[in-house]
Amino acid sequence: MTYDDNNIFAKILRGEVPCKKIYEDDYVLSFYDINPQKKIHALVIPKGKYVDLDNFSENASSEEIVGLIKGINTVAKKLNISVDTGKGYRALANISEHGGQEVPHLHFHLFGGERIGKMVE
Ligand code: 5GP
Repeated sequence: MTYDDNNIFAKILRGEVPCKKIYEDDYVLSFYDINPQKKIHALVIPKGKYVDLDNFSENASSEEIVGLIKGINTVAKKLNISVDTGKGYRALANISEHGGQEVPHLHFHLFGGERIGKMVE
């Protein structure tokens, strides 16, 4: 799938659509999900134009890959849900059709602040 510059997260990255920002650096932007599924529901997205995790793994630079993984940890610490600062959380990426991905810009969901429960419904 080619990257759609008009997807909602591309618009958030360009500052055309507002978000409740949690964290930003050279590689990632993190903000709260507009429709939270748990007490804490954050999203972490790479700044580069990647449709999903497979597309990212195949095309992103090593710096971008490290930046995203480190970014997840930084956000978890900031939200006090990391192993260091809290009681843990779930990081989840939906990938394409069977994964149930709705927004075609790679994103990790971070769920926390309470027990997340069953892994798959
Ligand atoms: P997916 O199903 O693609 O893994 O998840 C997309 C997520 O993006 C959903 O949890 C949805 O609530 C969230 N989302 C969709 N539009 C917006 C938006 O405009 N702002 C924010 N903050 N989240 C959004």
